[in-house]
Amino acid sequence: MIIGVDFDDVLVNSSETFAAFWNAVHGTSFKKEHFTHHEFHRNWGATPEDVAKMWMRFSKAESHKFTPAAAGAKSMVARLAQFHKLHVVTNRPLETDKETYQLIDVHFPGIFSDIHFCTKNGGTTRAQLKSDVCRKIGSGIMLEDHPHGAQQCAADGIHIYLFDQPWNQGAFPLLPGTIVRVSSWQDKILETLLP
Ligand SMILES: [Mg+2]
Repeated sequence: MIIGVDFDDVLVNSSETFAAFWNAVHGTSFKKEHFTHHEFHRNWGATPEDVAKMWMRFSKAESHKFTPAAAGAKSMVARLAQFHKLHVVTNRPLETDKETYQLIDVHFPGIFSDIHFCTKNGGTTRAQLKSDVCRKIGSGIMLEDHPHGAQQCAADGIHIYLFDQPWNQGAFPLLPGTIVRVSSWQDKILETLLP
């Protein structure tokens, strides 16, 4: 099979590193558990444009290179890659491709067949929908943490494994058989993707 995998807060713990970067710049004390709104700028009390600008700064900063892999991600994606073709499908801006490839090389060398960036112009413009990427690469499965991305793909018939995060705990329709909640990379439900 071909499986699409989101990058931030699925494969790597970006929100924690980004919060530390934001806090250092703004003198705030945000932690990931504060981010309960799925529209991320609301968590920061900032505009979407401000968050996009800070994300670009963060991507080019030294601290970005130390973004850790999510717990259990390395071993599980290595197991999945033995049987499936894995593609990263991310809303990161195209302009952060170099930094993203570097981070993937650090944590997941040789694992992914391709990386697809879904935004451009520093994240302010959508380049493509995740569901369009899935269709293009022939993937019927997406591992995702964002409720909008999940719902949009699910509406297009893509089976979603939704990774638990503070911002996806709110009420939104978990379509039976289409969106399945996953607690972490150690969740036994992911073993069903193995032969
Ligand atoms: Mg994500």
